[in-house]
Amino acid sequence: MVQTIAMAKSSAPDPAALLIEADDRLALGMPRPQCELDHRNPWELLIATILSAQAKDSVINEITPALFERWPGPAELARAPIEAIEEAVKRSGYYRNKAKAIRECAQALVERHGGEVPRDHDALINLPGASHKTANLVLGVAFGIASGIVVDTHVARVAERLGVTQESRPEAIEATLCKLVERERWIDFSHRFILHGRYLCTASQPGCAECPIAELCPSREHEPIGDWQGRSEREGQRVAAGGEGSSAPARATPARASAERIAAPAPSEPTPTAPKQPAPPPEDDF
Ligand code: SF4
Repeated sequence: MVQTIAMAKSSAPDPAALLIEADDRLALGMPRPQCELDHRNPWELLIATILSAQAKDSVINEITPALFERWPGPAELARAPIEAIEEAVKRSGYYRNKAKAIRECAQALVERHGGEVPRDHDALINLPGASHKTANLVLGVAFGIASGIVVDTHVARVAERLGVTQESRPEAIEATLCKLVERERWIDFSHRFILHGRYLCTASQPGCAECPIAELCPSREHEPIGDWQGRSEREGQRVAAGGEGSSAPARATPARASAERIAAPAPSEPTPTAPKQPAPPPEDDF
């Protein structure tokens, strides 16, 4: 249930209450936020996440179908010629490093984990190419395990604009957020804030007039239009349209594991009445 917190630009709101209300508001438009990297299993998600560093998810989604058709699992990729992998991932940027990383990751999975993606944070971050962020994302999306909050460039920017952190390192921002937000929310909170930053609270052109959390934000540049419920629903539609805009063929996303999830608010709020604002373009991740 959305709480109402007293907000004024000069006040110092409780950051935990602010984040919970922001998450609740975003949840109206994005009750079940999804990772935008196409994948059919934990292995594909792990490799796609490694490739997505400094690249758009949409570009990775264009690369991975052919990659996984040619090398469907760790055993196949571990034996692949490095030149062939480089060619396959060339469009992802930093392709030599990434090709080396995903082949070594595949080899490590075969040698250390029987060809399976481990459900363990420490094991994941010891895989070549996998970072702390990678581990949080894979554990949350593939296994429903809340090991942390995924702090990418979008989450970092939104948190800073909301005034809940003055940190600059992703690890420090994550530590702050994890103290303020209860664990049960971490997985969906991560994806809502990623999507909010990618589609609306962009670096160069934040859509404050259409922002569902504008009333909570000390950095807003324009007064919001209409009620937050309408803005939230329009943001959900914008995110859904962005996902449909992928040029990659439709691929199944595995059902989330049975970890306890927060209940999504019922979409029974007022329908949108305010005029639409142009959607800012999605931006690159870290
Ligand atoms: S009001 Fe503007 S700056 Fe604040 S979160 Fe919304 S889009 Fe971002």
